[in-house]
Amino acid sequence: MNPAPPAGAPAPTWIVLKFGGTSVSRRQRWDTIGRLMKRRADEEGARVLVVVSAVSGVTNELQAVCDGHADAAGTAARLEALATRHETFCRDELGLDPAAVLGERLAALRALAGDPRRAAGELAWQAEVLAQGELLSSTLGVAYLRSQGLDVGWTDSREWIHAQPLPNQNDWSKRLSASCGFEGDAALRARFAADGPALRIAQGFIARAPDGGTAILGRGGSDTSAAYFGALLGARRVEIWTDVPGMFSANPRQVPDARLLARLDYAEAQEIATTGAKVLHPRCIHPCREARVPLWIRDTERPDMAGTVIDGAAATIPGVKAISSRRGIVLVSMETIGMWQQVGFLSDVFERFKAHGLSVDLIGSSEANVTVSLDPSDNLVNTNVLDALCADLAQVCRVKVIAPCAAITLVGRGMRSLLHKLSEVWAEFGRERVHLISQSSNDLNLTFVVDEALAEGMLPRLHALLAQSGAMPVTEAAVFGPSWRHIDHPAPARPAPWWLARRGDVLAVAARGTPRYLYHLPTVRERARELAAIPAIDRRFYAIKANPHPAVLRALEAEGFGFECVSRGELEHLFATMPALAPDRVLFTPSFAPRAEVEAALARGVHVTVDSLYPLTQWPGLFRGRDLVLRVDPGFGSGHHEKVRTGGKEAKFGLAAQDVPAFAAAARQAGARITGLHAHIGSGIHDADHWRAVYAQLAALADGIGTVGFIDVGGGLGVAYDPEAEPFDLAAYGAALAEMKQAWPQYALWVEPGRYLVAEAGALLLSVTQVVDKQGQRRIGADGGMNALMRPALYSAWHEIANLSRADAPPGPPADVVGPICETGDVLGRQRRLPEATAEGDVILVGHAGAYGAVMANRYNLRELPQEDVLDD
Ligand code: ADP
Ligand code: ASP
Ligand code: MG
Repeated sequence: MNPAPPAGAPAPTWIVLKFGGTSVSRRQRWDTIGRLMKRRADEEGARVLVVVSAVSGVTNELQAVCDGHADAAGTAARLEALATRHETFCRDELGLDPAAVLGERLAALRALAGDPRRAAGELAWQAEVLAQGELLSSTLGVAYLRSQGLDVGWTDSREWIHAQPLPNQNDWSKRLSASCGFEGDAALRARFAADGPALRIAQGFIARAPDGGTAILGRGGSDTSAAYFGALLGARRVEIWTDVPGMFSANPRQVPDARLLARLDYAEAQEIATTGAKVLHPRCIHPCREARVPLWIRDTERPDMAGTVIDGAAATIPGVKAISSRRGIVLVSMETIGMWQQVGFLSDVFERFKAHGLSVDLIGSSEANVTVSLDPSDNLVNTNVLDALCADLAQVCRVKVIAPCAAITLVGRGMRSLLHKLSEVWAEFGRERVHLISQSSNDLNLTFVVDEALAEGMLPRLHALLAQSGAMPVTEAAVFGPSWRHIDHPAPARPAPWWLARRGDVLAVAARGTPRYLYHLPTVRERARELAAIPAIDRRFYAIKANPHPAVLRALEAEGFGFECVSRGELEHLFATMPALAPDRVLFTPSFAPRAEVEAALARGVHVTVDSLYPLTQWPGLFRGRDLVLRVDPGFGSGHHEKVRTGGKEAKFGLAAQDVPAFAAAARQAGARITGLHAHIGSGIHDADHWRAVYAQLAALADGIGTVGFIDVGGGLGVAYDPEAEPFDLAAYGAALAEMKQAWPQYALWVEPGRYLVAEAGALLLSVTQVVDKQGQRRIGADGGMNALMRPALYSAWHEIANLSRADAPPGPPADVVGPICETGDVLGRQRRLPEATAEGDVILVGHAGAYGAVMANRYNLRELPQEDVLDD
């Protein structure tokens, strides 16, 4: 980390703000720019330099002009179209006179068509062409803000930012992907200050070339212009204003669940930018880091959101911060028979990359093969260049080009120590063909190169796996902000949880002693009625394993639910609670149960489900003359955690679809009839399409069997544990089922939800035992932990935690809420902001604990089981 500035140093006077293409393409956004400039001047006493991009899409058009340089008429027409576009924008959007504002600029733009360097497409001419977008937008901006009464000056960036050719740089990158100096001294700063008013607008993307002409900083390079200015001027900070409110844990346009990264250090931000996050140009961090200028990323449409802060003082938090991807990667695989330990082979090979001006990014090697990647953002990788390279390389090895590929990178500190948490991520890659894996020695990056077509689809899945596995520490509130989904579509304000409205009653219950579960039956009934209102569902069964409390069972029986049991114990408990219950309202769906349990269930007359050939072939006598339900494994699983996915080859449940004909034959032979088909592939599922797929598969199988009367699609309905998360989309679920029902009206549709009915209705009440600060980490101890509620320890599940004794106090510093069990994993929630004054004896409430709470509690450490209570009004 850089040392702090010496005490008493004068405060830097400039703040640099950079606005990207979309931020300068609307009048109202220019109003925001003017407001932000003024506010920084008025409230912070700063001078303000705004660096702008070209209007959205203009640089792409200019790039097309460069690419089509050989066609004189086409070039002139393209430039004319651009001139018209700017005139229209000036007049219609900004309400200014185009001739007065843009006259000279547009003349220069049109003149480029007649430039003698055009025909050959000289690089210097291309740079002039590309520079026009920023020259135009900055001119428009100055004129507009002046028309609004702001004293704004126009600065030509080329006067201040000068390209510096690097050793081995080829002509293309010297001119069109230039690097510049950024060492500023007092004399430069004085000159700059004297050069115009306190509010200034300059162009991004352009610099002075050593020959006095224009150089370009590479696509997206306006961020880097702002950073160069920030460093040259020793600015207070550089603010990058764009169309998203910060750097996210993945590209939010591809991964809606990507989380805002509130705070990053320079090295992490650098790695995220380099590996593909377009929101920051990779070259813009280095100048800020060297000059110790903080970088902010903000959203022009949401100017009041805090965004991302990147500086040298961010706390180091290990874990994956982001997953990024780069497309258009070219792999060059080089193979030689004699390579093993052959002296100088790598040098021979790399010499050739250097000769073609190509910079190599990733490298993988084995005895007989070296594979490297070329990144198109650093290289001019076109077919001509590649062909020439391959011809050259062919002299020393066998060459194969693999393209197009995408590089998917996990970025974060301490990647090596995280490998054990990445097993599911590896498995995900294991299903695809991975061409290259590379782990950087700075321990910040792990990259997988796959075929380009695969990458986009993999990102949301990988992001979800990283968050679930704990490899991405999304509960660290100091780093991870809200998700893009939440920012873009804020969830409608949810009704306050029942326990807040009933706080007095809940505290009175807690006074009887903690740990104690409390169930709010009106909430159970509410969920039950929602399901009852779905017309496609013919029969509903409650999976009692989620919560077998007698009051819950009775409430659901009264709502018309049947019950699903998975053990003899559950069956006995159910009939003991409700002796008059008709056996037809009960399903028995055991897993690897002993014969006696199946026998007992058959004797009760409940619906018995079988999910392998074993019971039929080994205990044939049992099923003679009986109806049975067949549980099928549709071949895939789903759910909130690996441990609750109950479909697919890895899961122990269900008969493989391919074995259904053999099962049907065995059933016939045993004298049994298959009256229903069942599948349940997991729990905590939010995607309604999944039931559609399951139903379609079961229906197709049922058609083949002939005796089937009902299809049971199981449960699995998701629950939004996090108040920020999207609630389960019951309408989409209902619509998916309706569609299925319409396609196969001959089958009755059964469902068997558990969690959905009871999760929200339950709370675990605990008392604070101790509050301890250890080496900067605060811990709030509670009298129940993984013994009372296993879900956080078992599934890394997130539950809301509130201090009910101080419900109105503001959030305090982050603290881990831990239980009393002698296990490091005994943490109910990490980095929670309970009130600062939280103290021994306060009542802590763990929300959404009604499902798989009390029923999974245990007596580990010989602690007592939690008590259970009910609120029935
Ligand atoms: P500007 O034109 O303002 O420079 P860019 O399009 O260059 O804006 O950068 C912003 C875009 O970067 C976002 O709209 C988003 O699509 C993309 N992006 C890619 N990865 C990330 C990420 N990890 N975080 C935020 N944005 C990202
Ligand atoms: N206008 C340039 C581009 O589109 C630079 C930038 O916007 O950052 O690449
Ligand atoms: Mg950009």
